[in-house]
Amino acid sequence: MSEFVQVACPACLAANRVAAARMAEGPTCGKCGAALLDGKPAELGEAGFEKFVARTELPVLVDFWAPWCGPCRSMAPHFERAAEALKGRVRLVKVNTEEAPQLASRYDIRAIPTLVLFRNGAEEKRMSGALDAAALERWAA
Ligand SMILES: [Zn+2]
Repeated sequence: MSEFVQVACPACLAANRVAAARMAEGPTCGKCGAALLDGKPAELGEAGFEKFVARTELPVLVDFWAPWCGPCRSMAPHFERAAEALKGRVRLVKVNTEEAPQLASRYDIRAIPTLVLFRNGAEEKRMSGALDAAALERWAA
């Protein structure tokens, strides 16, 4: 049984090992002090995304979105609620495809929003279209 879970810091991308039993206790980054699992979506771009996914052992649920997309804006509060509900179990990440077009291209994002679930650094599944908070939780489970 694994007693530590590796999670990447959303601020400095350092890999941190967190005791599995303490995931809900607000762990902070050993390098920069940022909150590791604060129940909020991490906003990542070109520079940090792949390191973050590779260094996070929790499943990572990514919302590839864009500011001009109405369904994306409607989903945003649901995504935040799901991040809080899944805190310590699934890491939620937002990628603004307007700011990170190369990431969108590399992951072949053809519709917005697209949700992609990574597990152990590899894509497990994806879907296009917005979900409400309950459906996000079910989809990521
Ligand atoms: Zn850090």
